[in-house]
Order: sequence, then structure tokens, then C-alpha cells
Amino acid sequence: MTVIPQPQRRSFLLTLDDLNREICNCQKCRLWQGAKHAVSGEGPPNAKIMLIGQNPGAEEDKTGKPFVGRAGKFLNKVLAENGINRQEIFITNIVKHVTPKNRKPLPDEIAACTPYLKTQVAIIKPKIVVLMGTVAWQTPKIEGIECVETVHPSAAMRFMKMRKRFREDFAALKNRL
Ligand code: URA
Repeated sequence: MTVIPQPQRRSFLLTLDDLNREICNCQKCRLWQGAKHAVSGEGPPNAKIMLIGQNPGAEEDKTGKPFVGRAGKFLNKVLAENGINRQEIFITNIVKHVTPKNRKPLPDEIAACTPYLKTQVAIIKPKIVVLMGTVAWQTPKIEGIECVETVHPSAAMRFMKMRKRFREDFAALKNRL
């Protein structure tokens, strides 16, 4: 009998822990070579909200956790202002390894990493996915899951206009839960 692999069904059999192990061993693009840790993401498997950023930075690479540096602290502040508990949401990035000098991930790096993100979305099935920044906006749309675009917290920290938008988007998000 020939067994036909069914990659789209795989996600439903995988747990986040299984996927995490795969991500930690990933060598699908060049980025693993410059990284101390893969940063797969953090949060409960039944999270209603999923936040997606660009790629881990130096602090995230050191700790293996997403958004723990300056941008993460700013994000925590905006979440707290809106009564959103960070422990209840899932936070990840479009690319799971730090990039050289924190440059934007290249198209082939995004392509190599996107299946992990799609599988995370398929396992968690969040109600809303928040795409933070232009790189995250490239996340392929997944049927039945609402995507909201906002600016990246690093940009929101630096530019007043973007900070205003970021705050408004998170206030609107809170009202939707
Ligand atoms: N910026 C990101 O996009 N992701 C992180 O995890 C940290 C900073």
C-alpha cells in the first residue's frame, strides 16, 4: 500500500511542544547559524489572541523568549493599559531565529519559517491574530481567522503617530474580546 503524506493534516496531530522541538532543531535557512536559541513563541495553546512580530532580537535570542527586550517592555505596558493579560495570549514572530544585526528577514528566510507559523495558528486557532509591523503583515491569511494589522512596537516606541495607532489598535482589540 502506498501511503500519501498529508502535510496539511499534520498540524492537527502535533502539539505546540512537538512543534517547539522541531523549531529548536530547525536548519531550513541560514539564520540558525548565528543564533543562541530559537524563539518559537510563548503562551497557552488555547489563546484567543495571537500576536506576531518580525524576528527575535538580541535579548530574545539570549533567553529563547519572544518580546522580552525594550520593544517587549513597551508591548507589556500597552497590554496592561488595556487589561490584556500577557499570560493569556500567544506571542510569536514570523521568523524564529535572530537575524544578523537585527536586519529584516529575507524572503527565503520568511518562506522557510512560515510553515511553523501556519502550524501554530492551526493548533491554537486564535480568535484574532494581530500582525505587528510590515514584515508580519506578509503572514498568509488563514481562512476563518481574523487578522488585524498594527505597527511594530519598536516603531510605536519611537514615533508618536505610530504610538497613537498602536495604542488605539490595542484598545479596540480589548473591546472585541
Ligand atoms: N521584535 C520582534 O519583532 N520580535 C521580538 O521577539 C522582539 C523584538
